[in-house]
Amino acid sequence: MIILITGATGFIGRHLVQRLQREHHTVRILSRDGKHASQTLNAPAFDWDYATQDVPAEALHDCQIIINLMGENLGNGRWTEARKHEIYASRILSTRKLVAAAPESLRTFVCGSAIGIYPGAGDDLYDESYAVPERLSFMQTLCHDWEQEASRIEHSKVRRVSIRTGVVLGDGGMLKKLLPIFRMGLGGPVGNGRQWLPWIHIDDLVSVFCEAALDTRYHGPVNAVSPNPVRYREFATALGKALHRSAFFPTPAFILKLALGEAAALALNSYHITPKRLLEDYGFKFKFVHLSDALADLFVES
Ligand code: NDP
Repeated sequence: MIILITGATGFIGRHLVQRLQREHHTVRILSRDGKHASQTLNAPAFDWDYATQDVPAEALHDCQIIINLMGENLGNGRWTEARKHEIYASRILSTRKLVAAAPESLRTFVCGSAIGIYPGAGDDLYDESYAVPERLSFMQTLCHDWEQEASRIEHSKVRRVSIRTGVVLGDGGMLKKLLPIFRMGLGGPVGNGRQWLPWIHIDDLVSVFCEAALDTRYHGPVNAVSPNPVRYREFATALGKALHRSAFFPTPAFILKLALGEAAALALNSYHITPKRLLEDYGFKFKFVHLSDALADLFVES
């Protein structure tokens, strides 16, 4: 298959490109810095500035699958109005341009989304059937509009999947930013510690993206979270144990904000999410079902 990936140089994209290359797919990349992307990922890459350029035609030639992961990182500092605009535009406007440029050969469009589409409070368990209300938070608006924009590509020939990703455990993202805090022994519960944290191991997430790209049964929104979400208190204890550090004292909010910027709010919200469609519609087999196994895999040397 010829697969075009945006955001390929990021945390999730790097792992995804490696898996697809191992499986002998032809991977092409769209990046703000094509030369750098091509060198680091060993794949043909094309420069693309979504704000000023159309999608380069060579990148789309004979392309059958697009996987769209690009977007300004949520975890870098304060969400000023300018940054909120960049967070939004780098996902929504770029998706609009990709959809408009879809070649005749395209059969599948897999697009990023996030569990931020759910309300983020309380203990109610949410699945993909949740109806997004009219009054939305910034995160809900972002994910909702991202999915709407992607869904415009759907017609008889093109399948669209939006992957509502949870907190990814691997060598990047939120976990990487939390590690220094835990290594200092300051990684205890945040807030009252009762908020739900919907985690997924990076290997399972990559498998979800691959199946969504290649298995024609996948369509629409799909929650990518493990079947066993935990409360933050349990997460902190398990991570402390995996790192052989105490996780007893609550993490001060200002330290969490230093590490995660405004995205710290996501660690304070409660996302109780189930991967209903992965389990019931697609029979997806998770490699990591329990948090302790996922962390043991990641911190085997610690
Ligand atoms: P990263 O921040 O690691 O990478 C995103 C990539 O997008 C970058 O490598 C970059 O690629 C491109 N990019 C960054 N900023 C901009 C910008 N301002 N304009 C255009 N392109 C930009 O993200 P992840 O790999 O962690 O996540 C991929 C997607 O999945 C993101 O959209 C994210 O919101 C979503 N997601 C991630 C979760 C996680 O836990 N990691 C959870 C839920 C959703 P280049 O420089 O090559 O153009």
